Amino acid sequence: MATFLFDKIIFGPVFSRRLGVSLGVNLLPADRKVCNFNCIYCECGWTRADHTLSTLPSRDEVRRALEVKLNEMKKGGTPPDVITFAGNGEPTLHPGFSGIIDDTIALRNELFPDTKIAVLSNATMINNKAVRDALLRTDSNILKLDSAFDETVRRHNQPGNQYSVADTIKNLKLFKGDVTIQTLFLRGEFEGKAIDNTTPREIEAWLNALKEIGPSEVMIYTIHRDTPEGGKLVKVPEKELNQIAARVRELGFKTQVSG
Ligand code: SF4
Repeated sequence: MATFLFDKIIFGPVFSRRLGVSLGVNLLPADRKVCNFNCIYCECGWTRADHTLSTLPSRDEVRRALEVKLNEMKKGGTPPDVITFAGNGEPTLHPGFSGIIDDTIALRNELFPDTKIAVLSNATMINNKAVRDALLRTDSNILKLDSAFDETVRRHNQPGNQYSVADTIKNLKLFKGDVTIQTLFLRGEFEGKAIDNTTPREIEAWLNALKEIGPSEVMIYTIHRDTPEGGKLVKVPEKELNQIAARVRELGFKTQVSG
């Protein structure tokens, strides 16, 4: 198993299958993952029980690091398609998230007005209005919903807080369609039990959840790199992802597959 961590605040730019040329922003520590999920497929490895928020970069450190990198890219004439908040865990856990989004918008407007700002989030903090409002100020808030069943989320994502699909859907509806749903499909085995969020029962319930949420876009993908669980988790074939995507499109939602 070879999961990895980003060792800086700003990383890349890298080419992202989903987003294009993406300059990454990591609001979490450089030496460990901080997340309130512990997804069995997480590319950053397992969430450690002793994770804390005490060593996060400050709002000012993030702004300065981003400014330096964007100026460097400006000089090189290489604009990013998107500035993406991702990194070693859940970006919206950063207490300065809202202000950091404002700083990023200001820098983007000054240096690369055509560049988009995206956030990849597990949606656990969207009950907080300040987080929701900050996400709405970005160009693309991409929020996770891997299943419409609590028991599946408990196995696939292992939430550390009190997570409920019903509450998450209720909060996702507050975006009034200004939200992208990201769903990772996978199969295999974890702790001796079968893992599969592609069964007919799963897909039916997930499509119904999408109907309730009414997202502007749905991103469907599967595992690509090593996972903490190693070889016991397997990709869902691209053909099947495309079949799921076709059903999403039938509902009238724009859909992107990265197999
Ligand atoms: S939500 Fe993202 S960062 Fe957190 S454990 Fe899951 S995949 Fe990893």
